[in-house]
Amino acid sequence: MPYNFHFDPVELPPEAQELRREVRAFLEAEIAAGNFGAGSGKGPFNKDFARKVGERGWIGMTWPKKYGGHERSHLERYVVIEEMLAYHAPTRSYSTADRQSGPMILRYGKESVKQAILPRIASGELCFCIGLSEPNSGSDVFAASTRATKTDGGWLVNGRKIWTSNAHNSDYMIALLRTSPPTKENRRHGLTQFLIALKTPGITTRPIINLTGAHDFNEVVFDDAFVPDEHLIGEVDMAWKQASDELAYERSGPDRWLETFSALVELVRRAGPEPDERLAEGIGREVAHLATLRRMSLSVAGMLQAGKTPAVEAAAVKDLGTNWEQALPDKVRLLAPQEGDSAPPSNDDRFEEALRYTTLIAPKLTIQGGTREVLRGIIARGLGLR
Ligand SMILES: Cc1cc2nc3c(=O)[nH]c(=O)nc-3n(C[C@H](O)[C@H](O)[C@H](O)COP(=O)(O)OP(=O)(O)OC[C@H]3O[C@@H](n4cnc5c(N)ncnc54)[C@H](O)[C@@H]3O)c2cc1C
Repeated sequence: MPYNFHFDPVELPPEAQELRREVRAFLEAEIAAGNFGAGSGKGPFNKDFARKVGERGWIGMTWPKKYGGHERSHLERYVVIEEMLAYHAPTRSYSTADRQSGPMILRYGKESVKQAILPRIASGELCFCIGLSEPNSGSDVFAASTRATKTDGGWLVNGRKIWTSNAHNSDYMIALLRTSPPTKENRRHGLTQFLIALKTPGITTRPIINLTGAHDFNEVVFDDAFVPDEHLIGEVDMAWKQASDELAYERSGPDRWLETFSALVELVRRAGPEPDERLAEGIGREVAHLATLRRMSLSVAGMLQAGKTPAVEAAAVKDLGTNWEQALPDKVRLLAPQEGDSAPPSNDDRFEEALRYTTLIAPKLTIQGGTREVLRGIIARGLGLR
């Protein structure tokens, strides 16, 4: 049956507004104390910051208390994520675990693993990375060939994962591994998800330097690395049923449209209180896009709160959000008042830094977490168009 998008309007409850004030006060105190700067990106890897966020109860917010969670709503979590991103807080040491690895373990992990791992994620102690892409399988994750072969008490892993963000800083990876060949009826059959401790002998992490010159992602090589049975996530050979849940967690949040936001903020600062008509109109247009994306993304948070898996809506938010944020640095450059214009630039350094950074990261935005073309394929299939 054809599917229609559902983006029901969601209003943030009063407790979320109160929480927003708390998060802002915390972040402003951290900046004032010099613990992180008002830069552009997600900031450096910073475990101290993660621990402080964990102490405040802002990691694993929606998880059950018995696993170290806080049983708060997805809408409250949404507010925390939004503020962290808007302030460029250094969340990279815990954000992947909070966003997708933890929820996957909660949903499909063994009880002993939930008890051992989830509280350590929620306290900000553990960092996770995502092991989906391989040299010969990126968009087509179900073509993965890195193997897990059954052995006594567990599995031996051999092969390579690539573009693994943060693997060099991570304690664990959730990896999609080949445990059987695909079947004629289902080419997605035969893959299994595992929790892999990255300190396990037989695992080598090699850096890949990105366009900004930073070491952010890696190649991870497995050579007879042992993974215990207990670390199986979900059913053997049936990961195709689970991986789309993981991608829905990955795709729907404000992290998919707030990565180049600093360019817009600095443009508004540069425009001053009385921008000319052209600039005011340009800023207004971008803010209107931003406000619409935010409503859509909030609506997805509302669906997660209702226990749904809004995969098609999440793909639409990611596609629209990343296309918007990818185009933003160029639009800001064109709109910015030039020397000799009525509003003299007062934020030269910050403006230039925001433009430099956002221009360099723009190309990756429509690749990471699923390319533009692949997302549109998912949306088309979801709508019954292919
Ligand atoms: C900054 C960054 C961080 C990343 N972090 C991680 C990570 O932590 N873990 C991880 O596992 N991966 C990560 N990735 C990898 C990312 O998920 C893949 O790059 C992405 O899925 C695309 O795969 P690929 O690079 O192999 O390109 P391909 O799949 O080879 O695609 C090449 C081109 O072909 C197009 N294409 C492919 N298939 C189709 C199709 N069916 N229909 C139409 N067009 C198609 C694509 O859109 C693309 O334009 C990261 C990537 C980036 C850029």
